[in-house]
Amino acid sequence: MEKLIFATGNEGKMKEIRMILGDLDYEILSMKEAGISADIVEDGKTFEENAEIKAKAISKIANCLVLADDSGLEVDYMDKQPGIYSARWMGEDTSYDVKNNKIIENLDGVPDENRTARFVCAVAAAFPDGRVITRRGTIEGIIGYEQRGENGFGYDPIFYLPEYGKTTAELSPEEKNKISHRGRALEQIKEELLKK
Ligand code: IMP
Repeated sequence: MEKLIFATGNEGKMKEIRMILGDLDYEILSMKEAGISADIVEDGKTFEENAEIKAKAISKIANCLVLADDSGLEVDYMDKQPGIYSARWMGEDTSYDVKNNKIIENLDGVPDENRTARFVCAVAAAFPDGRVITRRGTIEGIIGYEQRGENGFGYDPIFYLPEYGKTTAELSPEEKNKISHRGRALEQIKEELLKK
């Protein structure tokens, strides 16, 4: 069976990826399982560029299909920040409790219609022959007025989905995977891999 490496050190993401791509004809490996470690500088200007940088860098070492993703939160009222800097925003070591409260504070007094935001995820697939494709998935929501929910990670407690009456931190992992930006980007990549 052909190998597929997903370029992440995040176990949560690996679980999601195995759920979505598990029925493909590939042996899915994390970087750790593939015995690869690399410090990659993500200096792209877009989610797509960063995903491509990661996939290509690992592909050079690996000689098999490599997938990588880059994701983040765009808050329209904050000129789409933190965007590609979502992990680094306010400092990598600052807790998400503090980051989330800062966003709520930035939007103090802002009405629902101007609180729009989205999670974005780009997934890149780098093939051994040098070909690279990227696909984007998004999920639209609004920034809540308080943090709610214990599931998920990062900005989930402030990302409110009006049609569900819940934040993404209040959804079960299965519910979130079905509608998430990462789920949607991975489904599109899966379609491309099935065409092969
Ligand atoms: P990266 O894609 O691993 O670089 O992560 C980007 C950052 O975006 C994460 O550290 C989170 O802060 C944020 N982020 C991406 N996806 C989600 C999500 O599904 N929920 C909450 N935060 C997210």
